[in-house]
Amino acid sequence: MDQTFVELLERNAAHAAEFDDRFDSVQDSQSPPVVTVCCSDSRVLQDRMFGNETPGEIFTCGNIGNRVLQRTESGTVVSGDVLYPIVHTGTDTVVVVGHTGCGAVTATYDDLTEGISDTPGIEHCLSLLKPALEPGVEALPSGLDRPAAINRLVEYNVDRQIDALLDCPDVPAETTVVGVVYDFQDVYEGRRGEVHVINVGGERDMAALRDAHSEIATGSTACGRTDSAALALLTVRGIYRTSFPNAIASTITETLVVRFFVCGTVLPSMSAETDAQGRLYIPKEVREKYGQRYHIVLYEDRIELIPVADDPLTAVREAAGDLHDASVEEIREDIETAAKDDAAEAGSDR
Ligand SMILES: [Zn+2]
Repeated sequence: MDQTFVELLERNAAHAAEFDDRFDSVQDSQSPPVVTVCCSDSRVLQDRMFGNETPGEIFTCGNIGNRVLQRTESGTVVSGDVLYPIVHTGTDTVVVVGHTGCGAVTATYDDLTEGISDTPGIEHCLSLLKPALEPGVEALPSGLDRPAAINRLVEYNVDRQIDALLDCPDVPAETTVVGVVYDFQDVYEGRRGEVHVINVGGERDMAALRDAHSEIATGSTACGRTDSAALALLTVRGIYRTSFPNAIASTITETLVVRFFVCGTVLPSMSAETDAQGRLYIPKEVREKYGQRYHIVLYEDRIELIPVADDPLTAVREAAGDLHDASVEEIREDIETAAKDDAAEAGSDR
């Protein structure tokens, strides 16, 4: 027998030994609280991304392009795969999971822009994505490189699948409908494997999402939806790279060249350029010394990274000294002023 399958059987034996008694409560029925709709891509770990090891927790739908629609004789409707748990098992949360670098989105993009031919089955799948993605392709800003364009469309696609669920009369109004992007390519800030919430019940504005759902705020900065604040919190955990908000990149120059100052001295070996996606590699020495999270301080002619600890507010308060009762805005202003004063002194020493 095929060695690949033999190995699968061995792993299944281990699985059965571990899970044997986990089916007791769900042996004859299920009422999963959540249904997920993921791309079938082998890198998208549908259960494991949410740490699921419990039978009966997650109703899993998978197809290329994380589509929620199917075509029937009565028209294009929300797929029975997705509706089944909503209609029959009391499931009241739907999560559509797109992912960075999606092949189905890429193929749809290629089909819309230059036309491709594929097997009838695959063309059928793409034909379900194309009507939704076409306006997104037309709206892509010029100058995006291909991976960035695809990743914008990945979000666009998730948003359109959410729209379809919200428009469906068979999905009860009280159903929680969430769209996320699973990032295993280090496109977003954060660790590979994190999901980034981009849509909750049709709300796509990141500031509004942060305000309404504090628990999803950390690290959830959708690509292409940048924070216009001049002082932005950078998160460079895990993969140690980060994105500069477009607002900052375009304020200064298309490509940022960043020099790292340590105690006011320019370290010539520590210059770095942002890549095509605006990401910057921060040298290991700097990360080891200052940690992995920084504020960006924006000046007329340059920016600075101010290290912050894991708890930003605590770090800001510590840095602000005795301003314990000041508002966050007041503290930020104070830090910014202090940083600029320090930089001016350091500059006059050079
Ligand atoms: Zn995919």
